Amino acid sequence: MAAYLWASPNTCIGIALGLVLGGNFRIVGGVVEVHGPRISKVLKRLWVPAAAITLGHSVLGQSAHWLHRTRRHERVHVSQYERWGPLFIPAYVIASAVLFAVGKDGYRANPFEIEAFQVDDL
Ligand SMILES: [Zn+2]
Repeated sequence: MAAYLWASPNTCIGIALGLVLGGNFRIVGGVVEVHGPRISKVLKRLWVPAAAITLGHSVLGQSAHWLHRTRRHERVHVSQYERWGPLFIPAYVIASAVLFAVGKDGYRANPFEIEAFQVDDL
């Protein structure tokens, strides 16, 4: 329960984005999963185009297929939000920025992604 509370600010952002973008909602294993064509459009235009993105206990995906395909990877990010709470996004962005500044891949070399890719190398 404390983990849900700690991650809740980001969960709320994910749910709000899902509502604004008119997504289809479903709860899978205690996580809100949202997908839809407008979500898909946004995810494809991100700095690193994504099949899905996790915000606390919510995951926005391009489609039901991609939510299923990325579930194991995104659940690692859910666990990271449970540990880091509101600090997760700043920590993730700082890690990416530092890696980028030293000429490394800010996505693949990011320790948060390395942990997630260990369970599911998409
Ligand atoms: Zn990831």
